[in-house]
Amino acid sequence: MTDIRLLPDFVANQIAAGEVVQRPASVVKELLENAVDAGATEISLVLVKSGKEHISVTDNGSGIAPNQISLAFKRHATSKISRAEDLFSLATKGFRGEALASIAAISQVSCNSRLANSETAYQYKNHGGEEFELKEVVAPYGTTINVKHLFYNIPARRNFLKSDAVELRHCIDEFHRIAIVHNEIHWKMYSDDQLLFNLPPINLLQRLGHIFGSKFPQRLVPVSEETPDVAISGYLLRPEFAKKSRQEQFFFINDRFVKSPYLHKSVTQAFEGLMPSDMQPGYFLFLRVDPAKIDVNIHPTKTEIKLSDEFEIFSILKAAVRHSLGQFKVSSSIDFDLNPSYELSYETARLTDSYKLPRVSVDRSFNPFGNESTRPLFDQENAIIIDQDPIQHSLDSDFSNQGLLLTSDKSPLQLDHKFILLAKGNELIAIDQFRAHQRVLYERFLRAMTVDTSHSQQWLFSEQIELNAQELLQFRLIEDQLIDLGFHIEAQENSIILKGGPEFFEQRQSVEVFKELLNQSYEHDTPENLSIADLTAKILSRNLATRGGVKLTVDQMFKLLTDLDACKESQVSPDGKRIFIVLNSNEIALKFN
Ligand code: ADP
Ligand code: MG
Repeated sequence: MTDIRLLPDFVANQIAAGEVVQRPASVVKELLENAVDAGATEISLVLVKSGKEHISVTDNGSGIAPNQISLAFKRHATSKISRAEDLFSLATKGFRGEALASIAAISQVSCNSRLANSETAYQYKNHGGEEFELKEVVAPYGTTINVKHLFYNIPARRNFLKSDAVELRHCIDEFHRIAIVHNEIHWKMYSDDQLLFNLPPINLLQRLGHIFGSKFPQRLVPVSEETPDVAISGYLLRPEFAKKSRQEQFFFINDRFVKSPYLHKSVTQAFEGLMPSDMQPGYFLFLRVDPAKIDVNIHPTKTEIKLSDEFEIFSILKAAVRHSLGQFKVSSSIDFDLNPSYELSYETARLTDSYKLPRVSVDRSFNPFGNESTRPLFDQENAIIIDQDPIQHSLDSDFSNQGLLLTSDKSPLQLDHKFILLAKGNELIAIDQFRAHQRVLYERFLRAMTVDTSHSQQWLFSEQIELNAQELLQFRLIEDQLIDLGFHIEAQENSIILKGGPEFFEQRQSVEVFKELLNQSYEHDTPENLSIADLTAKILSRNLATRGGVKLTVDQMFKLLTDLDACKESQVSPDGKRIFIVLNSNEIALKFN
């Protein structure tokens, strides 16, 4: 057997680095936390190529004494705790003493630091664990840490990094997470020479406005609750402004950003009934608990925590959120039946089951260009009757490959206003009418956008849409595709002006679809592969398909089934869900046993 040996330090550090540093954003997080722990009042983050090339954090904090710099880069070297008991009364972000050692093990680091009372600054360099001699430099009070060429010595890790856009997004997320909780600090973030965020010290509400857009604070309601176990404060996003993405969900426990699926569930439950189930509640919640009752030490990135009285906190949180939503009459202002006087989001609006929506009223008489060939793709009252003349279904077409629908000579039946039932040979086919309709519309839209020459129209009145920095970045990523689709867009500093849109939907829809596109494209991990046409077709079909709960005539059912049969893919909905199920007589016979 081979002898047991202690691993050399640089190997141990590389292994630890694997846990602490997954991507540039992990470095950003650790460096920003160190700057906060150093008592800085001004902190700047500079990224080059989304941090893949260079990450630099400058603070005006305490600085590091020259004789300690090298030590700071050793594993388990920390000034923040000294005894095991300290772990249960943490007042700092860091305590593991791992970050700098891990970062230096997998990149080329230089650190300039100057103590508050010192005339001289010192520079320390460490490339992949190899240390260089300390030298005097000229630098302001505080510390700057430069991290270059992350993973330069671990090509496999480097190759795992996502696109620049995705990595930048992760860095921005980390920046937000810490800037929101430390609103007493002046933060700046630059990416490739562009100032993305300049956040002067200010109260929490205004800070949220600086980050998420100036209208954002008006969309929030406060939460506050105090019990012996926990103090809760923060803000909730009114449900009508909810998005599909989880961008606006923040939990902080004792000023530390944490991910807690358990607490998230508590908030989601409190929002129940106030918004559609596929929408995400927005929240910025600050919990304060006795530090002795939490364990942040379960993962090196410290975003997971263990609370000793999780169960109590779950109920208190849920009650607090409910209380706040009730107190500010959030619940009563939500009218799913679309009261037109409310400025409802597209998402909330489409919830109406009564099928007042979609209001895709393409006004045929209003066509400034008088082009006869512009035929609306759907009709406003009942989108299932897309063409006025019912299409005759042909009984002799060959559906054997798809094993599909209309070879049946029996009339379809509707069940519960949701399913279409069809008997065919010895089989019973149940079709989900919403998904079927979604599929039909999806293919139609996709074709309109990609195959048919799609026209765009200029609007009489343009629409200004305010975008926050992150949305603007996202917009840049998909701008070309949006233009291809028919959007006329003029970008400004904090907003964009929509001057026209694709011809086949009306202006109000264009604006909503535009916003949803920004939102949903953000959720994609690889924006480069994202097809905006596909996403648009999905959004439109989901919003415009006739929801379950609508009575259909036999003709309408036939029409829908014929259209479905003509689809390229008739088995699954655009979201990948099955459209119909087949029960044969044997399976039915089994039920009688
Ligand atoms: P931890 O933060 O867990 O203590 P780190 O490896 O992140 O471990 O940092 C090691 C030590 O280096 C810290 O405990 C702190 O004393 C010092 N340090 C790191 N960054 C800074 C900074 N920006 N300003 C002052 N001291 C710092
Ligand atoms: Mg640290």
